[in-house]
Amino acid sequence: MMRVQLTDHIWLIPGRRGGHYPHCNSLFIDAGGRAVIDPGSDRKELRAVAAEGVATVLLSHFHSDHVRDLRELRGAAAYIHASEREAVEGTEAMKRCVYFPDEVQDEIWMHRKDREVGGWGWPMAGTFSHGSEFSFGPVTLQVLHTSGHTGGHCCFWFPKEKLLYAADIDLTPFGPWYGNASSNLGAFQGSIASLACLDPEITVTGHERGVIKGDIKAELRAFSRIIDDRHARVLAFLAEPRSLQEVVNQGFIYGSFFSEDNSLAVPETRMIRHHLDYALELGQVRRRDGMFERS
Ligand SMILES: [Zn+2]
Repeated sequence: MMRVQLTDHIWLIPGRRGGHYPHCNSLFIDAGGRAVIDPGSDRKELRAVAAEGVATVLLSHFHSDHVRDLRELRGAAAYIHASEREAVEGTEAMKRCVYFPDEVQDEIWMHRKDREVGGWGWPMAGTFSHGSEFSFGPVTLQVLHTSGHTGGHCCFWFPKEKLLYAADIDLTPFGPWYGNASSNLGAFQGSIASLACLDPEITVTGHERGVIKGDIKAELRAFSRIIDDRHARVLAFLAEPRSLQEVVNQGFIYGSFFSEDNSLAVPETRMIRHHLDYALELGQVRRRDGMFERS
């Protein structure tokens, strides 16, 4: 798939396999100074873009599907949110973002991630934070720290073009994904709500849909409601005391896929843990003898 022009100076590079994981949709800015956002879309196209000379790479977060083709843009200066710099520069910090401290670490998974990105550990030229601005000729973007998916997840807003790169607030029918230790449900809900204050004419999602034209408030509400619905199902199940494993076995997140695909046990477990943490935080649930129960 080739580039798709969105504005005078901004192109979408659609992700392979429809932008499904393990790929994402990238943005390419060519405005007297070239930049790529999230180089995980299409290696061939990113190579072509790299041959034209790319000075800057911005990463929405450290996940391999958004970083995987950074190796093709080696000459560029790469930036990520300050809280995730270490996670993209080294495996130990990455694992701290992914795993809960009491989890058994999976070396096979780690090797796979390492292979995907051509060796984990990419030196960043610098970091950004909420409100940081980058300018490329006439194009200016603002960083929006929108944590929840991961702790340092960011979206990018181009005020003049009214274009939003929403990264993994990806508005898919599956809904929000919060399967890392550094994910956070309350933060995710707040981040989704914060995007409703913008008035984008073009939204580019990190996965699947790619380009959405016009108002996205209804999409944001539907996306957020998926968290609420999952949470309500978890709480209903806790009418009687249940162990973490009993809640996980219900497959509230992945539904029927959960029973068919063993590899989903890990993200299902982590996402349920976030629901239980959130419920404990809100006082909806209490914990007794390792069991969870509505309070
Ligand atoms: Zn991600």
